[in-house]
Amino acid sequence: MSEEIKGFKIPTAWRIKRYYFFILLTIMALVLPWIEVNGSHFFLLSFDKLKLHLGFVQFDMQELYLLPFLLMMLFLGIFGMTVMGGRVFCGWICPQTIFRVIYRDVIETKLLKLRKRIKNKQLEPDMSIAQNKIKRAVAILLWVVLSFVASANLIWFFVPPEDFFAYMSDPFEHMILLGTLVSSALFLIYDIVFLQEDYCIYVCPYSRIQSVLYDENTVMALYNTNRGGHIYNSDKEKVFTKQKDLQAVEAHAECTACESCVTVCPTHIDIRKGLQLECINCLECVDACTVVMGKLGKPSLVTWSSEYEIIDKKGKTKYFRPKIIAYIVLLIGIAVAMIIMGSKKENMLLNINKENRLYSVHKESDGRVVVENAYEFLLQNTQNKTLNFYFEVILPQGLKGTLEIEKPKDSFDVTPDVKKKKIVVLRTYDKLADDSRHDTIIPITIRAYAVGHEGEIEVLRESTFTYPREDILREAK
Ligand code: SF4
Ligand code: SF4
Repeated sequence: MSEEIKGFKIPTAWRIKRYYFFILLTIMALVLPWIEVNGSHFFLLSFDKLKLHLGFVQFDMQELYLLPFLLMMLFLGIFGMTVMGGRVFCGWICPQTIFRVIYRDVIETKLLKLRKRIKNKQLEPDMSIAQNKIKRAVAILLWVVLSFVASANLIWFFVPPEDFFAYMSDPFEHMILLGTLVSSALFLIYDIVFLQEDYCIYVCPYSRIQSVLYDENTVMALYNTNRGGHIYNSDKEKVFTKQKDLQAVEAHAECTACESCVTVCPTHIDIRKGLQLECINCLECVDACTVVMGKLGKPSLVTWSSEYEIIDKKGKTKYFRPKIIAYIVLLIGIAVAMIIMGSKKENMLLNINKENRLYSVHKESDGRVVVENAYEFLLQNTQNKTLNFYFEVILPQGLKGTLEIEKPKDSFDVTPDVKKKKIVVLRTYDKLADDSRHDTIIPITIRAYAVGHEGEIEVLRESTFTYPREDILREAK
C-alpha cells in the first residue's frame, strides 16, 4: 500500500495500520465473551454469581487474590507503555478513540458525506443547511444503535451473553442490568457525539499523569525543528505562517506551512508547537506531512520518534533503557506470581468450625466410653457439575488409636456453586491421651474429596480434636 513519488517511497499511512488494529480489537472484544472452555470464559467478573473467570479458569470470590495482581499488571503495563511510546494507548487501543473514528470518520465522513474529508477534522459541517441537519440526525441514530451494542458488549464481561439475553427477555425484572445498559449507552452517545475529543483533553485522568512519565527517549509524534524550522518561538507563540518568512530567518527550513498536520488533528493542536498534553498519539499528523513532504521527494517532518533521536540528534532511540527493563521485569514477576498463585487454586472450598461445646462423653451399653467432637463444615463445589463428597480424618503420626466419622455416615451430593453446611461428628473409643489435669488438644487433618476424583478434587484442612481429662472419662455415664 506504500506508493512512490519522485523516487521517494511513501510508507503505508499509520491511519490505515490503526484501522486494521481497531478492527482486530473490536472483533476480539465482541467475540471473546462468547467463547467458553469447559463452561469458563476468558475474562468474566460475575457479581451475581460471585465468580472470576480468568484464562478459561473459574475462581471463587474467596479466591479473588488474583484481582490485585491483574490491576497491578494493568497499571504497570499502561505506565510502561507510556514511558516507551507516549500516549500510544490513546491512539491505538482506547475505545474512545475507536468510537470517535467510527462516528466521525466512518459514519459522518465516509458513509453520509456530512464532513468533507477525513484529512480535515477541524472543518465542522455547515449545520444551517437542512440536508446536513438530516445527515447529522441519521448519524446520531446510527450511533445510538452502536452505543447499545457497545454497552452490551462491555456488560458481557460482567454478565455473560447467555445470561444477559435471558435477563433481557424480561428486562423489567432486571432493572439494575437494564439501567446499566441504558445509562452507559446514554453516556456513550453524549461522549462521542457531543463531548468528542474534549473527553481526552479535559476529562481523562490518564492525560494528566502521562507527561510525568515521559523522558527524552519516549516515542511520540514529533515535529523536527532542525529540518522544518521554528514556527513557534520559545514562548509558544506562532511567529511564522508562510514558508518564505520562515526561510528569511532559517534558510534551510523545509516546512511548507501548509498546515496539513494541523487540520487533520482530531484534538485541534499544532504539533509544530512541541509536546502538548492534548496529543493522543494518533499519528494522523505524521501521515499528513508524509504525503506533503513525499510529493517533494523528502521524508516527513513529523515522525513517530523521540526527542533523543530527532531533536537532540544524540543517536538512535534507546528502547531498552533501565526504566523500561524495570517495568518488564516487574510485569514478568507479577505474571509469574499470578500463574503460581492461580495454579494453587483449590478445586473445592471448605471451612471448618468447631462447635462451642468442646466434646461429649458417654458410656455405651457394652461399657465402652465414647468421646465425640462436633464440627460445622461449610463446603462449596466450585466445579461445573454435581459431585459426591466425603471426608477422611488423619491423626498425627505416632498417635495410637482411631477417629471414626460418626456423622455423616455416607457421602453426599453438592451441586455447583452451592454452599452446603454439614454437621460432622467425630468419635473415638480409644484412649488418645492420658492427662489427669487438663483436656488434651489433638491436632488432626481433614481430607475432603470428591468421590471418584480423589487426588484431583480434594483439600486438606487442619483442625483439632479435644480429648477430655481422666476424671471426666471416669465419670462418664
Ligand atoms: S498532534 Fe494531533 S494529529 Fe498529531 S498525533 Fe497528536 S493528536 Fe494526533
Ligand atoms: S504538514 Fe509538514 S510541511 Fe505542512 S505544515 Fe505540517 S509540518 Fe509543515
